[in-house]
Amino acid sequence: MFDVAVIGGGVVGGLLLRQLSKYQLKVCLLEKQADVSMGASRANSGVVHAGFDAKEGTNKAKFNVRGNQMMPSLCEELGVKFKNNGSLVVAFSQDDLETLKDLKARGEKNGVPDLEIIDKEQLLELEPNINDTAMGALYAKTGGIVCPYELTISAIGNAMDNGATLYTDFEVVGAVRDEFFTVTAKDGRTIQAKIVVNCAGLYAGEVAKIFGDDTIKIGARKGEYILLDRESAGFVTRTLFFTPTKLGKGVLVLPTVDNNILLGPTAEELEEGNTETSKSGLDRIMSKANQMCKNIPYYNTITSFAGIRAYSYTHDFIIEESKIIKGLINCAGIESPGLTSAPAIAEYVVNGLIGGLLPLKPNNNFNPYRKPDYFFKNLSDEKKNELIRENPSYGKIICRCEQITEGEIIRACTENPRATTVDGVKRRTRAGMGRCQGGFCQPYVMEIIAKCNQMEYKSVTKSGKGSNILLGETK
Ligand SMILES: Cc1cc2nc3c(=O)[nH]c(=O)nc-3n(C[C@H](O)[C@H](O)[C@H](O)COP(=O)(O)OP(=O)(O)OC[C@H]3O[C@@H](n4cnc5c(N)ncnc54)[C@H](O)[C@@H]3O)c2cc1C
Repeated sequence: MFDVAVIGGGVVGGLLLRQLSKYQLKVCLLEKQADVSMGASRANSGVVHAGFDAKEGTNKAKFNVRGNQMMPSLCEELGVKFKNNGSLVVAFSQDDLETLKDLKARGEKNGVPDLEIIDKEQLLELEPNINDTAMGALYAKTGGIVCPYELTISAIGNAMDNGATLYTDFEVVGAVRDEFFTVTAKDGRTIQAKIVVNCAGLYAGEVAKIFGDDTIKIGARKGEYILLDRESAGFVTRTLFFTPTKLGKGVLVLPTVDNNILLGPTAEELEEGNTETSKSGLDRIMSKANQMCKNIPYYNTITSFAGIRAYSYTHDFIIEESKIIKGLINCAGIESPGLTSAPAIAEYVVNGLIGGLLPLKPNNNFNPYRKPDYFFKNLSDEKKNELIRENPSYGKIICRCEQITEGEIIRACTENPRATTVDGVKRRTRAGMGRCQGGFCQPYVMEIIAKCNQMEYKSVTKSGKGSNILLGETK
């Protein structure tokens, strides 16, 4: 019997699991995919928003500003890359300049510090690749960037190191509430829990319904991206936004924490989730990005991808105990700025909601720190030699583009939460994220996954069920 079961291994469920593991509670995470961070927390802009965008008094405004404050120390504890790179909302017309004043005033009401409106000269000095047609910008110095899947994986790994249990391939399809909840997976497994928290992203409405709460309606909006190679590092150093319109924040131009350049996202309403990119979507991104910046080095494009926003029809985050099912807490409609807000949502759900339902006694053995996923290539020669002497697998390069060693991949397949798929290794180590996109290293990565997880080589998949890489022998 678990005290709390969390449904959904995205950034919200992941940080919630970690927050719960700070207390003497038996907790678990139920994730329908073969790995965690496979929903919106896998593919987004990675912006730690300052908090001037959401309307004063909304959940979005409250959790965004608090989440932004929590992010630097959280990332430090978890050994996750975070950069306080600042963000610029760029104005291209007189109307835009007026909107910047409103945004600044709203940000100040929300409690965002260090907001400044800068003129064209200051702007072009900060970001020389912005088009000369820009007229000024709102500079938010507290804006940042983080790797969303690294944060999610590390939070879940740290929670597991502190005693939490993870069930993958556990698609919740049934739930019965007697004295406690009995939750059933598609393959027939069951768990019991006193409290359930629904963090199922795009499927939060369906999951609530499984429990008997049909009040949550979730819409889906796709966002496509273009990713440029690290050769383009420094093209821009801050996150560049257009001045928002009624249709939203629009296409961004920004660096990632790994020094790539990211362009996107688009915004396309969907009937059902699909993360394919399209020529028209990528054309739209380029056309908008060209309005923001000159001479974008598109020849450095290495991939395109898409993520799906799960928005609620209330246009705010829904974070509350279900009005119909006691003991079911819904965290639904967590669209942008959900990544930024996740640490604050986790804090509120545990201390503000679960604390009213269960006694919270501190776990005195809680260790907030996770060994950082150091990248071998970033170590000094002395450190590299020391590591190779201790463990010769660090002397063998597997991914040539990103210079990732066998030792790092073994580590990804043996530490919490273990990688069991090629994409799982990619998200933990960057093996396969370089120019050749895994063309050379994939067979070796598969061998290591099979060995560490005692799987058959041919059963290793790209990203779980239905994504088999090897189907049979040719000779
Ligand atoms: C294009 C795009 C750009 C964005 N940019 C930003 C940004 O720059 N900054 C920012 O702050 N936010 C941003 N966001 C928002 C942010 O990504 C999301 O708010 C956040 O990732 C939501 O996390 P989550 O844990 O709620 O959902 P998810 O990450 O989607 O996780 C939900 C999980 O639930 C699992 N699940 C679903 N159904 C079941 C079931 N029946 N049983 C078990 N498991 C189930 C899914 O497999 C999934 O792993 C962006 C979002 C998108 C799509």
